[in-house]
Amino acid sequence: MALIAENLERVREQIAQAAAKVGRAVDEIELVAISKTHDAAKVREAIEAGQTLFGESRVQEARVKIPELPSNLRWHFVGHLQKNKIRHALPLFELTHSVDSLALAQDINRIAEEDGLHPRVLLEVNVAGEGSKFGFQPDKLRAEMESLLALPRLSILGLMTIPPIAEEAEASRKYFVQLRELRARVQTEFHVDLAQLSMGMTQDFAIAVEEGATLVRVGTAIFGERSKPRQE
Ligand SMILES: *Cc1c(COP(=O)(O)O)cnc(C)c1O
Repeated sequence: MALIAENLERVREQIAQAAAKVGRAVDEIELVAISKTHDAAKVREAIEAGQTLFGESRVQEARVKIPELPSNLRWHFVGHLQKNKIRHALPLFELTHSVDSLALAQDINRIAEEDGLHPRVLLEVNVAGEGSKFGFQPDKLRAEMESLLALPRLSILGLMTIPPIAEEAEASRKYFVQLRELRARVQTEFHVDLAQLSMGMTQDFAIAVEEGATLVRVGTAIFGERSKPRQE
């Protein structure tokens, strides 16, 4: 079996095991194969192994890659979205995981209005409060939630987080718990349904599944190491 197919099988099995461990149904969890920096040929290998949902973090790269591949694939955007890339990004992606400020949400809403689109988004939360990271601080998210919910073009489907880099996967658990608890609080306070929790990467996706992830974003464990270091 080809390497990418083997890797995918292993990741899917680990997701199933983590779900079973906590009594979750495995079909509640979607695997987003993060194909950033990997070319269309590698994506095709994953398609042959049954994968149809992929994630990218740079609009310029996605604009080249996505049209090279079958049109029945589903694409999610997971990177920091720059204002001047919104118009290009919206038609390519069925879900943006990484709306990280009210200003960005407002810009997306305006462009969606102009272009007749209804984007689906997640709100990225900086649960650990790291200064260097994009995302809403939890208190800020609650303070701005009314304004976010008032944007008529956006469907806000859930929350996303990237925990601090750590040696041990277990170190991420408390941040995943915090995201889930924040979700519960926001749902109660604002009477909204935030069904999606996007959390977990190569290092810690099994822990994320145990803590309630509905979308796990896995790159390296499927496609191997990325050759060039990339900023997200
Ligand atoms: C690159 C990236 C991933 C995948 O990371 P791996 O560690 O390679 O699994 C997941 N989420 C985001 C936001 C990323 O930028």
